[in-house]
Amino acid sequence: MFRRLFAAFSLLAIGMLLGAVIVLPGSHAGPHRDALWIGTLVLTVIGLSASAVLSYWLTSQMKRPIADLVEAVEELSAGSTQARVFLADGDELTRLGESFNRMSERLGRQIGELEQDRQQLRTILSGMVEGVIALDAEQRILFMNARAVELLELGDLSPVEKHLWEVVRHRHLLDAVAKALNSSQPYREEINWTGDTLRSLTVHAARLPGPPPRGAVVVLHDTTELRRLERLRQDFVANVSHELKTPLSVIKVCVETLQDGAAADPVHRDRFLDQIARQADRLHSLILDVLSLARIESGQELFDLKPVSLVALAVECIERHRPRAVARQQELLMQVEEEPVVWADEEAVDTILENLLDNAVKYTQEGGVIRVRLSTEGVIGRLEVIDTGIGIPGSDLPRIFERFYRVDRARSREMGGTGLGLSIVKHLAQALHGNVKATSEVNVGTTFSVSLPLADP
Ligand code: ADP
Repeated sequence: MFRRLFAAFSLLAIGMLLGAVIVLPGSHAGPHRDALWIGTLVLTVIGLSASAVLSYWLTSQMKRPIADLVEAVEELSAGSTQARVFLADGDELTRLGESFNRMSERLGRQIGELEQDRQQLRTILSGMVEGVIALDAEQRILFMNARAVELLELGDLSPVEKHLWEVVRHRHLLDAVAKALNSSQPYREEINWTGDTLRSLTVHAARLPGPPPRGAVVVLHDTTELRRLERLRQDFVANVSHELKTPLSVIKVCVETLQDGAAADPVHRDRFLDQIARQADRLHSLILDVLSLARIESGQELFDLKPVSLVALAVECIERHRPRAVARQQELLMQVEEEPVVWADEEAVDTILENLLDNAVKYTQEGGVIRVRLSTEGVIGRLEVIDTGIGIPGSDLPRIFERFYRVDRARSREMGGTGLGLSIVKHLAQALHGNVKATSEVNVGTTFSVSLPLADP
């Protein structure tokens, strides 16, 4: 560029010199002198004009790459990393342009990588089962993933840029965040969320490293199901202890009475010994049921899956229960619509049938009718145990598959029930990829229906 400038000024100098050369030889007086002056003047004007035009052209040539450069810088500062300048010559401006292009290219690459990382992070955060909230030091929401929006029941509200207290009214949650912001240690608290749905939420809040504190990250974990299972476990332990305590107390009292002299009286002795035997049986059944349920629930029960004929199993089971049914003048029938062969574990299906038939006999009055009905429907085999017994009230029906749930506790105990039979049936049916349902009407009867996948649908 400077070379061009130099050339322009050289030309100007040459123009001036030419004028001088023409003028100097004729610097004598006379009529030619005026003509010479005029000639010189004309030539000088021509030289000067040519120089001015040349200078203008050269200046505009010089300005163009600078204007290009300015334009590209403006484009870059406006956010476009596609801005490039094209400079032909190999002077300083060209080198500046090349550096600019390299910088713009590198910047574009880095911004692309950053954007990719950001997208990746957003995808990970939006796929998390935990709610994540990022806050600045003033508790303004910088980011909130979809799960947090769902857990805090914010609906369509767009929380970003708002203060946390503007969108969440839960005092314990706000306290937890405030505590985390004021401490270098992460803060953890379990809160009861009392919105549209009742939930247990564990709040983990940690301040972002400062100083000054730059905000906090809050992670919300839904522990509702965990707490429910914990409560179930505690209830189960309490129930088992209670169920064990009752027969044990009876056995203890009987033994003490016998020791105190009742053993000498044959009538009393036999009565107490009979009671001890019955309570021991009850303990035995209870322990077997608890162990069986625990095994099925933990998934440790190994099932030997193969084609199982429900007809053969039902016939065996009915014959096992016939003496009891006959003693209660009950009719025990079998109704085969189709002969389902299911893909199941024989022992497990036998346990299901055993429990349902045992209940049917137990909860049907003398002279009642109990029917085992077998059928198929599409890809499932169905087994129904239908009785004309006492029935189950509608309010109890949804709960009868719960552990230790009994409609009439005293009656169940008197009949030797553990309160776990239906729970075992439900878990076994589910473990065999089937299900069990109950329908009932008080004083009319109950139907338990078990569906299992057919071996060869
Ligand atoms: P239980 O050992 O007490 O029989 P289950 O788990 O087998 O325990 O059954 C739970 C409760 O469901 C029983 O206590 C009883 O109240 C009710 N029940 C079960 N089967 C029948 C039935 N066939 N008819 C009426 N009530 C029933």
